[in-house]
Amino acid sequence: MKKGLVAFLASLMVLTVPMGLSGSSLGSGQTVYAEAPGESGSAFDKRITQRFDTDLVMDHIYYLTEEIGPRVAGTEEEKETAAYIQDQLEEYGYDVSTQEFDIANRLSGTLISGEDEFAIRISPGSASTGEEGVLGEIVYSGLGLEGDFPAEVDGNIALIQRGEIPFWDKVNRAQEAGAAGVIIFDNAEALVPPTPSLGANQADVPVVGITKADGERLLEENMTAVITISEVTDQVSQNVIAVKEPKGKKSDDAEIVYATAHYDSVPYSPGASDNASGTGVVLELARIMAPYPTEKEIRFVFVGAEEIGLVGSRYYVSQLSEGEIARSAANFNLDMVGTNWEPATSLYVNVVDGAPNQVWQSASGAAERLGNDSLILFERGASDHVAFYEAGIDAANFIRREPGTAALEPWYHTPFDTIDKISESRLQEGGQLIGAAIYDFARKEHPGKGKSENRRATVSGAYLLNEDQTAPEAR
Ligand SMILES: [Zn+2]
Repeated sequence: MKKGLVAFLASLMVLTVPMGLSGSSLGSGQTVYAEAPGESGSAFDKRITQRFDTDLVMDHIYYLTEEIGPRVAGTEEEKETAAYIQDQLEEYGYDVSTQEFDIANRLSGTLISGEDEFAIRISPGSASTGEEGVLGEIVYSGLGLEGDFPAEVDGNIALIQRGEIPFWDKVNRAQEAGAAGVIIFDNAEALVPPTPSLGANQADVPVVGITKADGERLLEENMTAVITISEVTDQVSQNVIAVKEPKGKKSDDAEIVYATAHYDSVPYSPGASDNASGTGVVLELARIMAPYPTEKEIRFVFVGAEEIGLVGSRYYVSQLSEGEIARSAANFNLDMVGTNWEPATSLYVNVVDGAPNQVWQSASGAAERLGNDSLILFERGASDHVAFYEAGIDAANFIRREPGTAALEPWYHTPFDTIDKISESRLQEGGQLIGAAIYDFARKEHPGKGKSENRRATVSGAYLLNEDQTAPEAR
């Protein structure tokens, strides 16, 4: 059922893809090596670069995106992914633990008109409906300004265009006019529907966002629709953790290095780049590193519920003891490392305060040895490294962006983030580089030297959580 719906949505939404994004215009990532892959770097680097198998990474990405599909926090698909990761790590010889945690209730629902189900984003302030949903005629209500609501809105569904005034003003007026539900359609072409943010307000009726094209279709066809929204409660997500013990010493004396990647996705998106790519690479690094002794302890942590506000990584860090925090040296987080979007030629190293911390130093050292000049140090949160940073641990996120603009691929967080938009050469380039950096850092003793002085404050600001979060006053 899930796959049917996703296929349906993809076919529905493909109509809205701007011309420039059609598959034929996509080039694959170009990587120019000074030498053949795996031939540069130290003998230790070669343990990583020569064994790094991009085909295995692609297998992981295929399984996550094509076999499982969207992996939304709290769903069966997210759990299925966690089980897959656990199986792989056990095959590599690790003892694996799974850490469950509660996540907030969420709204789930549908908009059906005639024979068709429309792709929606539910407003976080939306009311739930009963199982039968809210049935009504679609009544066009302009921009939701005063005087835009005809009498027929009473008891029916107001269809309002986005723009000019905040979402809440539109919804509030629709409620006052007696609307039983509100649909807000976008005022610009986009790949996904808008999420009508109501700030802190709570609507008395269901409120959903749809694309411009779908809004115009509903307008033309002048139909009835059913909106059904229910609250999904008692949700759990999970982190999956494999620990590589340090050689020849009691593990509570060794420093800890974390290699992390989130495996959940946003709704409707198969999340190939975001973040099956990072998950696949970290799995491959766990496989490669298993036989090699290191002075430091390495923890491979696969994080759930990143997309709903870094919930999994913050839970993981909150469960570390004071002793573990003190031993924690660095977090290498991988989130979106394989896009084939042509302009994303650089591998950004996002650090919350932009400081050249140990992760940056280690990565830029590896880049120099490997003859790779694609790294850019950048001040940015918006992924799981934030949680480690807040605990005073040197942390960075590795992510592909366009140099200069720092732009992400245009299909970020859309149904079009699929495996055909992954570049094998970029996966390989990033995986070899980050792997060489982690191995170099973990191989040697490094007793507390050079650790940055992170601000250790809880980081706030929407952009730090999610690249596409909207402000409360959004319109
Ligand atoms: Zn991500």
